Amino acid sequence: MPTTRLVIIGGGPAGNTCATVAATLGAEVTLVEREIVGGAAHLWDCIPSKALIATGGELSELRRAPEMGLRAEGALDVQALKLRISSIQEQLHASLTELLNSQGVRLLSGTARFKDEHTVVVETEAPSGGGLEELEADFIVIATGSRPRVPGFAKVDGERILTTRDCYPPPEIPQHAIVIGSGVTGVEFTHMFDSLGSKVTLLVSRQQVLPIKDAEVASVLEEAFLERGVALLKGARASAIERDGDIVRVHCEDGRVIEGSHAILAVGSVPSTEGLGLSEIGVELDDAGYVVVNHNCVSSQKHVYAIGDVSGKLPLSSVAAMQGRKIAEHLMGMHNRPHRNLDYDKAASAVFTEPEIADVGLAEAEAFASGRKIRVTKVPFTANAKALIKGDPRGFVKIVSDPATGVVLGGSIVGGNAAELIGVIALAVTAGLTVTDIVDSLLVHPTLSESLAAAAS
Ligand SMILES: Cc1cc2nc3c(=O)[nH]c(=O)nc-3n(C[C@H](O)[C@H](O)[C@H](O)COP(=O)(O)OP(=O)(O)OC[C@H]3O[C@@H](n4cnc5c(N)ncnc54)[C@H](O)[C@@H]3O)c2cc1C
Repeated sequence: MPTTRLVIIGGGPAGNTCATVAATLGAEVTLVEREIVGGAAHLWDCIPSKALIATGGELSELRRAPEMGLRAEGALDVQALKLRISSIQEQLHASLTELLNSQGVRLLSGTARFKDEHTVVVETEAPSGGGLEELEADFIVIATGSRPRVPGFAKVDGERILTTRDCYPPPEIPQHAIVIGSGVTGVEFTHMFDSLGSKVTLLVSRQQVLPIKDAEVASVLEEAFLERGVALLKGARASAIERDGDIVRVHCEDGRVIEGSHAILAVGSVPSTEGLGLSEIGVELDDAGYVVVNHNCVSSQKHVYAIGDVSGKLPLSSVAAMQGRKIAEHLMGMHNRPHRNLDYDKAASAVFTEPEIADVGLAEAEAFASGRKIRVTKVPFTANAKALIKGDPRGFVKIVSDPATGVVLGGSIVGGNAAELIGVIALAVTAGLTVTDIVDSLLVHPTLSESLAAAAS
């Protein structure tokens, strides 16, 4: 059998996972990337944001030192923080490049576009030369990701009017950051700047932060923000941003004007499909510019796949990587039916704030809205020995199960290490485990995970 030739455009979590798995399965893979393998996820999104949040978390711990019986002080060293972020990125880049090389993936630095249905042309850059290279392929995967959305009223200057990509760290730690947008990115940046010492005003366009999350979950975070002195402006929809020297003014539709030192836009993202020549080869895009795909991420051209953010599904690194893995198997002929692991309703997600928030599967409100009968059990962390020992008993564990069978359908966790703990509920949801399976697990004491067993009881 001739070898399958695969070209992947974009080396983020979607593209690099697809490349490794397809190469393992015997494909001849070329991965084209114009920035770094690891993608926006490593360069601007998941990794640097969580590195900054980790530093902010250490500062918060130091502020709590007296409660823990300690005397300690801490001050931010922005230069050291920059070095720390670059060092994490370099280590991840080195290990990823080594993995791709060891699987025989050809890495090509440059910008790719379609020449025709089966040919991609790459404007190569160092270290891959310089000039044009044509690649013919049996299958082509579009994994070009997305970038921050900049609304028409904002003129980003990279100094005081910033997108999230300008914040690692920003030119200076803002004295007063105005965060526009209260979805996951907006609340994470609010938490990040507050813990790094900025005064923060968060513009919430509706009446709740994290508008698509469970109201009970969102209210714990709102309370924590208010306690820390974050100003929450509800029903505040930005309509203009003006800069006057060192001052930034954000105007809202209802006439309110907020003055601060920096404005940070966290109002979603747009797909990176421009310049790829997709319409010329008959790949359909939706109105927002995302590639239209079927369950297996196949576009309107059956040899062209789209995965990761550009597929318009759940914009998460974990989902992008899972799509990469599953479509590599699909194009190598391993699945001809829809794959159960591309069930986005079962994807776990987290919000890296203090307290952390994580959820998976069916939400309580969603079940009520659809009239589905469910059993909801909830325990607060105030009843958990480890949470008390750690000095942070905020939040709760909530498990949603089927009352007839006990099968775990979903869950939410608010509290320390929620993003780690949700893994157990995610496993239960994916594997169809029951609440009894969780209760019957012999867990370590004292740990936060004991609250999972208590909530499942
Ligand atoms: C601030 C922020 C924080 C986030 N934190 C998390 C988190 O904690 N956890 C999580 O799961 N998700 C997080 N996300 C979402 C996550 O970053 C994305 O879902 C993920 O990066 C998508 O992966 P991808 O492979 O589709 O694209 P990307 O990571 O965007 O990679 C796409 C790559 O394609 C390359 N490319 C584009 N066009 C071309 C071309 N024509 N030729 C060659 N190369 C090209 C780009 O250079 C880029 O490297 C966060 C997002 C943001 C904005």
